[in-house]
Amino acid sequence: MAQEAFDLIDLLARERSLPLIDYARLISSFDEAGVAEYAAELARGKRREVYGDIVFVRGLIEISNICGNDCYYCGIRKSNAHCQRYALSDQEILDCCQEGYQLGLRTFVLQGGESGAYSVERICRLAHDIKTSFVDCSLTLSLGEYHYAAYQAMKQAGADRYLLRHETANAAHYALLHPGSMSFSNRMRCLRDLKALGFQAGCGMMVGSPGQTHDILAEDLKFIEEYAPEMCGIGPFIPHSQTPFAQHPAGSLSLTAFLLSLLRLMHPNVLLPATTALGSLEEGGREKGILSGANVVMPNLSPPALRERYSLYNNKLSSGAESAQNLEELRQRIASAGCAMSLKKGDHLPL
Ligand code: SAH
Repeated sequence: MAQEAFDLIDLLARERSLPLIDYARLISSFDEAGVAEYAAELARGKRREVYGDIVFVRGLIEISNICGNDCYYCGIRKSNAHCQRYALSDQEILDCCQEGYQLGLRTFVLQGGESGAYSVERICRLAHDIKTSFVDCSLTLSLGEYHYAAYQAMKQAGADRYLLRHETANAAHYALLHPGSMSFSNRMRCLRDLKALGFQAGCGMMVGSPGQTHDILAEDLKFIEEYAPEMCGIGPFIPHSQTPFAQHPAGSLSLTAFLLSLLRLMHPNVLLPATTALGSLEEGGREKGILSGANVVMPNLSPPALRERYSLYNNKLSSGAESAQNLEELRQRIASAGCAMSLKKGDHLPL
């Protein structure tokens, strides 16, 4: 079996594509001797070819935890009455950017809950203000689902990139993770719209979410292969105590790392974060992600006093190397994984 896995990894590195059934076979062999190490070695080689041994830094501003959605996995879901809600003012958001700019950051990511505190007009005004105040910076939005016209207005206002995880490429699994008011087809429509509008677009999924099987993860890989995102955010599922999935175990660090390697082989130029969830799951998780082919980190640039309220899952890190105020620690940790930290905008490169 292991020999087959090595052959499939070679094939993926060469062809950047595998049949669905081979993705499933590969995923099921992730803990066989030497398989993940081999994929990681090839992935590091691909990253080096495209970007050099560089890891880009983005400042993550969690603008609000007010959310009208009720995703079963998420700690800021509407039904969590224990969540202390907040929404940053426009000035607070600009102040975060200003602080980030002084720290040297050149990409800001605005993330938040949905259909609550911010109208489309307000998001557009913010995007415009940020892009005109910090002309040499990139702006990424991660604010959920909107109509085409709203995404179009955000793009015209200056937003460069949009992160919207697909969460799962299997419609039945999507329905298991979300209430009936949300739909798989709308998520997919949003992702298509973002691409069509010319955003650098990001999709992604949690690893180990309830109901996820290796066959479903294979569907995720096939979807990502075909969608060809400029960015791809994957991280382990981690339970939150005030959600319906509180008792479900967290996802596997080593499986997540293996999937990062496969994504790097599939799309050598993809911007691939070692996510906060990866770092939160286990000490050294972020470094393992980088060693597996990740090339982005997104330390927290939100006002420190509010960080713990943006609790998507239990024990989410927002201090140490996960805090934008500690870039020196982050630099050292990236170096310990064999890479150099870059504060450049770090746009997606064509192959
Ligand atoms: N409302 C925005 C932002 C959501 S939070 C949107 O829908 O895009 C960003 C990501 O955090 C989600 O897409 C989800 O994949 C991840 N997330 C949420 N709850 C999580 C949990 N319990 N464990 C790990 N990741 C989680």
